This record gives sequence, structure tokens and C-alpha cells, in this order.
Amino acid sequence: METKSEEKSSAEKTIFDAIAQNDLVEFKNILAQHKGAVDFFDENGMTALQHAAYKGNKDMVQLLLDRGADVNSGKHEYNYTALHFGALSGSSEVCKLLLDAGAKSTATNSVGRTASQMAAFVGNHHTVATINNYIPRSELSYYSAVQGQQTEPYLPAILVDPLHKFVLGVNIHPVRLALNLQHIPSLLDNAEKVIKTLELLCKKEMTRGGDTNEVMAFKYHYLAYVLREIHNIRDKKPNSDKDDKKHDVVEVFSKKLLKPGKDGVSLDLMDTFLKDCVREFPFRECTTFHQMVSSLASKDPPPALSVINCTINGQRGFVDAIPYCSTCGEEKPAKKCSKCKSVQYCDRECQRLHWFVHKKACNRESSAPAPSNAKVNIDANELSSELQNLVAG
Ligand SMILES: [Zn+2]
Ligand SMILES: [Zn+2]
Repeated sequence: METKSEEKSSAEKTIFDAIAQNDLVEFKNILAQHKGAVDFFDENGMTALQHAAYKGNKDMVQLLLDRGADVNSGKHEYNYTALHFGALSGSSEVCKLLLDAGAKSTATNSVGRTASQMAAFVGNHHTVATINNYIPRSELSYYSAVQGQQTEPYLPAILVDPLHKFVLGVNIHPVRLALNLQHIPSLLDNAEKVIKTLELLCKKEMTRGGDTNEVMAFKYHYLAYVLREIHNIRDKKPNSDKDDKKHDVVEVFSKKLLKPGKDGVSLDLMDTFLKDCVREFPFRECTTFHQMVSSLASKDPPPALSVINCTINGQRGFVDAIPYCSTCGEEKPAKKCSKCKSVQYCDRECQRLHWFVHKKACNRESSAPAPSNAKVNIDANELSSELQNLVAG
């Protein structure tokens, strides 16, 4: 008994240091030597899991959860939960792990704020969206069981995990959804079943009485709508080009949506496609629907994509200077067009899909004479890569 409590207190002391220093090796050592529960508390009533969440350290969070750490435990004086700390850290991955482990997103701290409200308060928009878009896996697995008179379930069990991943995605740009579906062909292969399940989920969210979630209901409707369109394109493909079938579908779909309108900039086709989606939402009495329609029908309406994004992922402030991919809207993309450097992309695939739009502007930008003060503004690295391009070209 004596040795056990000493052993525990030494683990208790050192584990908080290891977390504070982000020392994963030491952290693993401590856990390996410690047998028994891992709900350690520091002198302020914070658990090791809360500390790891606050650090945004997903490996440590995962290891503690694997060892059975209680995700909703804590005696923090302001009632912060592990999810509150994860939200403050800005790590969406940590929040996702905590939510998967059963963290209650509705828990409030002593000033009445939920984890997602705390994330919004400190400007962690992606984390806000991750928490607000979260649904437990059980919501979907319900449809993989045979109900009542059914002989087969709505959703094959094998599709529960891929569909869960698809539904939790925060980037709802239709081209991003198409690119994601390309990597999970099982959802496209079973599109009709998946669409039916999404429609049932939508209806369920609207008929929960006090717990009605209009936003999630709209998201299910939206995903079903986009999936149906991609499925229709795929269906029309002749079987002869079986090999690049998947590839082509994304290309046809993104060409349809990214083609600029008469002014050469605005995405008229995308706008029409998405407005039709809003129009087809079956629950026309709800506040969410009315807000979207009044926004789309206003005098100088914002693009339908941004209306839908605001609805699903929450309104953003005015500090939207974050760079995004010109093809799929992903934030902070890794690559720039090497020729003109005025557009950004996630990867080669996104660049390839956008080239039919960008090629004109790219030639114009890169052949335009540089303004006279260009030398002052350009940084040395950029200049040398420009020179390399010239040499290579
Ligand atoms: Zn992209
Ligand atoms: Zn370019």
C-alpha cells in the first residue's frame, strides 16, 4: 500500500513537468512505469489530461485516453473541462480526440461559456467549427442496424466510419468534398444509401424537440445534395473509361463549379448550384432557412458559398486575411502558383483542377511589367525563386 501511493505521488509529480515541457519520451516512461488509473490531479485540481489538452499535445492526450483517463473529470476552480482547455489550445485534433472519448460539448465553465464559445473568444475559428460540427459515431451507427420490418439496414456497417469522417469535415467547399470523396470511393459506390441516411439524419435533427439542431440538419441536407450531384455525374460516365473514372468525376464537377461568370471573376455557376441547395431544404419554417434566404435575397448578396459556410461553421469576424486554396477553399494552403505567385493551392491536384481558370490571369500577371517600387517590396527569397523560374522557363 505504502509503496503504491509513493509510486503514484512520484508519477503525479513528474507527469505534470513532462507535459509542461512537451517531453513525450519522459511522458511515455512515466506512464509505462505507472500501473493503475491516470486521473492525476495537480494542486489546482487540474487533471493531467487537461494539462495535455491545454498544451495542444495530441499524442499525450491520446495516450492518456488510451489508459482510461476520464475525459469529463476535473476539479478546476472555474469548472473548465478538458475540452475547454483543448478549445483554448486551438488544436482541432485534440478537440476531436476528446469529443470521440465522450467529452460533453455543452458543459459550461463558471462564467457560463461552453468550450466552443471559449474557442471563438480567443479567435480559434477552426476549433469552433470542429466542436460545433461534431456528432458522435453512434448517430450514424444507429442506421447500420436493422430497424423494425427492415431486411437490411439503411447504411452498410462498413460505411459508418467513412461517413462519420465525411460528416465531421469542417471545409464544406463542394470541390473539397468531391476531392475527399475521391479518397473514400465506398461512399460514392453506395451513394444512394448514403444520401438516404443523410436525409434521415437531417429529419432527425429537426424533430428532437428542445434539442433540435437546425444547423446540423442543414449540413446533412447540404452533404446529401453535393453527393447526389457528384453521383449523377459519375453515373453518366460511360463504362469504357473505367480507369480514370474517379479522376474525371472530380474534374467535371469542379469545372462546372469553378468556371467564372461573364465578369471573369464571380462564380455564377457555383452560386446557382448552391442557391438551389438552400431552396431545396425541406424545413422552410426554421430560423436557419429564413436567415439564409434573406441574406441571399438582399440587395448586394454575398456569394452563396459564404452564406452556407457562415451557417454551418459560424460567423467570422472581419479579420479574414487568411490565405486559402483557389480551388477548394482550404485555409493556409502549402503551395503558390510558381509562375505568378498570386494564387495558392493545397497541392498539385488543386492547381491542376484550377488551371483552366487561372491560365489567362497567370499569363497576364507574370508578363505585366513590374511596378517601379517592386524592388523595395520583394523579399530576397522570392526574388531568387523568381530568377530560378526565369532561368528554368
Ligand atoms: Zn485545395
Ligand atoms: Zn499563376
